[in-house]
Amino acid sequence: MSSAERHEVVIAGGGTAGLALACALADALGEDARIAVADRAPLGAASPGDARAFALAAGSKRMLSTLGVWPAIAEHAQPVTAIDITDSSLEDAFRPVLVSYDNTVDGGEPATYIVEHGRLHEALLAALGRRSSVVLLGNAPAEGFAADEHGVTAHFSGRAPLRAALLVAADGGKSRLREAAGIGIVRWSYPQTGIVSIVRHEKPHQGRAVQHFLPGGPFAILPMTGNRSCITWTEEADRARAVLALDDAGFLAEIETRFDYRLGAVELAGPRGSWPLDMHLARAMVANRFALVGDAAHGVHPIAGQGLNLGLRDVAALCEVIADAARLGLDIGSPATLERYERWRRLDSALSAATFDALNRLFSNDSTVLRTARDFGLGLLERMPALKQLFVAEAAGLTGEVPKLLRGQRV
Ligand SMILES: Cc1cc2nc3c(=O)[nH]c(=O)nc-3n(C[C@H](O)[C@H](O)[C@H](O)COP(=O)(O)OP(=O)(O)OC[C@H]3O[C@@H](n4cnc5c(N)ncnc54)[C@H](O)[C@@H]3O)c2cc1C
Repeated sequence: MSSAERHEVVIAGGGTAGLALACALADALGEDARIAVADRAPLGAASPGDARAFALAAGSKRMLSTLGVWPAIAEHAQPVTAIDITDSSLEDAFRPVLVSYDNTVDGGEPATYIVEHGRLHEALLAALGRRSSVVLLGNAPAEGFAADEHGVTAHFSGRAPLRAALLVAADGGKSRLREAAGIGIVRWSYPQTGIVSIVRHEKPHQGRAVQHFLPGGPFAILPMTGNRSCITWTEEADRARAVLALDDAGFLAEIETRFDYRLGAVELAGPRGSWPLDMHLARAMVANRFALVGDAAHGVHPIAGQGLNLGLRDVAALCEVIADAARLGLDIGSPATLERYERWRRLDSALSAATFDALNRLFSNDSTVLRTARDFGLGLLERMPALKQLFVAEAAGLTGEVPKLLRGQRV
């Protein structure tokens, strides 16, 4: 065990959450604290077939700015300044807007930005390239770990183990390390598939996002730079399979049936991708010298575009509790440090997962009774600007006990 390379923190998983945590810790702990990020895949460009563009909340954007990641993204990020919501049957020729709201906070700051996954990944890698205390290890699948009083040893397939004060699992929804830690999960699969594609349209979107609630699931039109939008479309699984098997012309026709007529003619402008959807929640976020962040800790329905934002909240909170402990000369992997993290993040994750699950159940159906009830509710919301503003602040990640990084402050 003594032959293992020694680090302050080892992070397993170099997705957005893992890379962002490495950036944040490198800044908070100083350049003498060694941090390793190990991913099972080569740590280079994001998967070329991943067309996803994420709705990043204002809090997440403030954090990326504080970490110096945002400048590389800024010119490609589309601010979302307004959101329109409709609720209709697939066959309806016209989808009237039931709720429309101004999507800004704090006197005009956009509450959301749309950012391509690939650009975010590249910007995080470039930012890590400027931090000499971080080592990136590709082709290093984490297999398990052993924790003791003095530290934790992480084991990888095909490479030497790494020793640290704390091991963080950022290895996604099917987290191998969560399993190795013996942390169970609550999980259910949705009978729906997430379809994503990018389209170009004739007319400008003017920063407006559209959410069409349709019986198969929400069909979101997320504005991107140029006259482009990312379609994030939840569809009933069998129908999704049929749609994905269509050629480009057939696939485009399905999009046109659901699209926003105000944007004029539309064409495909990127690959299509699909994701099975589930809700999962780890029964604990920490164990002995071990913590979960991002999808390893929780996975939520994409109905509100909040999964990654929750993961970045974990990152900001964990970084802050580690930095506070380090400054007091305390053990950063001690139960007291990790319990503070768990108390901070667990309730928010569980409430968010439950809320998005309930919203999906309420809206993804063709019941006339339910549609009448929810449209009445949306009509009320439309007439309550203060409540709308509260929802916008919540989605922007600026309510509750907000970690410093999400407020745009250094840790
Ligand atoms: C269709 C769709 C649309 C979405 N839209 C949004 C949105 O608009 N806004 C938003 O906030 N969220 C959105 N999400 C959610 C978001 O995609 C996820 O929450 C986010 O990508 C999770 O990031 P992560 O880093 O935690 O995990 P991942 O991105 O899954 O990264 C995990 C990493 O760990 C690595 N790994 C896996 N196993 C191991 C191992 N054993 N050892 C080492 N490395 C390992 C993987 O290679 C990967 O690099 C969406 C999700 C879907 C499906």
